[in-house]
Amino acid sequence: MLGLWFELRGKILPAWKRPGRRGSASAARVITSRAEPRAANPGNPSDGGGSSAANAALSFRAGAALIAAMSKLPLRLALVPALLWLAAASPLPALEPSNLYPHKQELRAYVESGEYARSVADVALSANKYLVKRIHRGAKPGQKLAVVFDIDETALSNLPHILADDFGYIPRLWDAWVAEGQARAIVPIQTVYETAVRAKVDVFFITGRSEAQRAATERNLREVGYDTWTRIIYLPPGDTPPTMARFKTEARKRLTAEGYVIIANIGDQASDLVNGYADRTFKLPNPFYLAK
Ligand SMILES: [Mg+2]
Repeated sequence: MLGLWFELRGKILPAWKRPGRRGSASAARVITSRAEPRAANPGNPSDGGGSSAANAALSFRAGAALIAAMSKLPLRLALVPALLWLAAASPLPALEPSNLYPHKQELRAYVESGEYARSVADVALSANKYLVKRIHRGAKPGQKLAVVFDIDETALSNLPHILADDFGYIPRLWDAWVAEGQARAIVPIQTVYETAVRAKVDVFFITGRSEAQRAATERNLREVGYDTWTRIIYLPPGDTPPTMARFKTEARKRLTAEGYVIIANIGDQASDLVNGYADRTFKLPNPFYLAK
């Protein structure tokens, strides 16, 4: 065994050490890179580690040179074993993601079966029960109680648009839909809203809709029965927050600094609800899209 090692080393090492030999230099580089963790973003083809295609080419040449050195075959005849070696050394191909079509069917069934509406109603019922009790407890001196609602898929439903576009998001069509102002009220959530309004609790809407969509949004809200609010906070013009969660968190933080106690925060996205500044959060289902 030891003899075999020295025999191999005698054939391989001289090849690595000779500068200017493409195959041998590549072999040394490949072996070094395999031993080190990749520090740069592997998805970035411009990173210092080189592209995966370049690495594959280096691996291939190195494999051919290595096998030629070991077997004393000419480089050309070593190509087949080198290919086999490359295939064995390459990472497994990514699994094919699940097909989109049955997933769309599943979403349609969720809506058409009434399961989506039932889930929304369950959350709204919990929020309303909590709100009635919490409002009954009242506010401490100097406190102003507030409830925060998101708009899309919380106060208003865009399901007709979502279904018409087959769950796609096309910004031009979405903007046209918002401008039409035809979104429907989500009635169970409207019940929660009315509980807050009747008790004179301040109502805030915090929405990812833009300031430019203010007029159409407020017309839509009023037409379906949301006609009272203290403020609607839109995404400011030109503002591109790193995430929706950051924008909404900052908005609630400012309300808290103004002396409001947000007793309930209701939305359909985790980004509506994370990072505090609310006593209770209520998450509505939304398997149709994701806003981070
Ligand atoms: Mg929403």
